[in-house]
Amino acid sequence: MDSDSREHLFERIEAARDDLVALTRDLVRVPTVNPPGDAYGPCAELIGERMRRRGFEISYIRAEGTPGDSDRYPRINVVARYETGRPGPCLHFNGHIDVVDVGEGWTVDPFAGEVRDGRLYGRGTADMKGGLAAAVVAVEQLLAAGVPLAGAIEISGTVDEESGGYGGVGYLAERGWFSPPRVDHVIIPEPLNVDRICIGHRGVWWAEVETHGRTAHGSMPFLGNCAVRHMGAVLERIENDLLPRLSARSTVMPVVPEGARSSTLNINAIHGGQGLDFSGLPSPMVPDRCRMVLDRRYLIEEDPAEVEAEIRALLDGLAETRPGFSYDLREVLAFAPTMTEPDAPVARAVAKGIETVLGRPATSVVSPGTYDQKHIVRAGKLKDCIAYGPGILDLAHQPDEYVVIDDMVASAKVMADAAITLLAPPA
Ligand SMILES: [Zn+2]
Repeated sequence: MDSDSREHLFERIEAARDDLVALTRDLVRVPTVNPPGDAYGPCAELIGERMRRRGFEISYIRAEGTPGDSDRYPRINVVARYETGRPGPCLHFNGHIDVVDVGEGWTVDPFAGEVRDGRLYGRGTADMKGGLAAAVVAVEQLLAAGVPLAGAIEISGTVDEESGGYGGVGYLAERGWFSPPRVDHVIIPEPLNVDRICIGHRGVWWAEVETHGRTAHGSMPFLGNCAVRHMGAVLERIENDLLPRLSARSTVMPVVPEGARSSTLNINAIHGGQGLDFSGLPSPMVPDRCRMVLDRRYLIEEDPAEVEAEIRALLDGLAETRPGFSYDLREVLAFAPTMTEPDAPVARAVAKGIETVLGRPATSVVSPGTYDQKHIVRAGKLKDCIAYGPGILDLAHQPDEYVVIDDMVASAKVMADAAITLLAPPA
């Protein structure tokens, strides 16, 4: 493609700036909070009906029977497909439409989509409705400009990414929606900053540890066996033994932020004794159960089996030395680390786009957490997948989340440029 027609395309995208803002705002105004998974249907339709008017073929796919799916909260995904009429590969843009809960500390209405100082505010603007809208506008302008393309373009709005993706990309990937020959390249506009390409993510292992005890009257704790004290001993080992070992491990993965270039462990929750969800007074009891949820993130250099074995060894050590100690360990969720080659076709095409649009080289990064790439690689068996989008990584899930409008426009140009590279008709 000559530089004049590329300039013309970029001007078209620039001129669509207000449309891009309006689309993002419309998406933000549908409060698709997950959990529970609200308003997925209306949000999917907003994307589907818009793409239908642009000549796309639309499929709505409900992930029946997946976690959280019900008639009140149906897990509805949308996939839009456009055939250029020439044989060639398919480039797929995938965005999740669910957002996390609002939380405290907002100074703007989280579902209004307010614009201030070149920023669009609201829950999901960065993560990742702004990125999805940028992909939509990029594709619309690319097609409207009449750029010669081969193959097909797909755009999907999928659900439940924030809760593991089983009702969204996971469900679709199991059923061939993300595999060749249907799809060849995938770009996920997650918030990784406008000049960075995310080629993968660390591994994740969630587990629940339960310590056991025996109830007794609280005035005579020596007659019982306190499960909470046993959990205290587990915490002590984690604090003084495990955490220092984890933070000493490092990786070749270019994880951002740099603090995540070692292994990490978060204690997600701990519950023992009587609940706090009543207004009366507690009764005097020695607790017989205590549960802790662990969120362990690991590196490509670590063996997934070792990740579990290490926790088990810590617990077995306590069982040997601490009177009355017994435990259960249950895996809750596990995904191996994944990393696409930095010179994979989709990564190269987006890197070239970043250089063309922003005039500086792209950086390859790896995400500290997982996202839907895991399903595309594992269930879809498709490696040519990256994340690239306009949002600022650190703002995801925060109060007063926003996306910079200039970044959205720039990322739309980059995505359009990458599409031209990947879908160029044979000369
Ligand atoms: Zn996201």
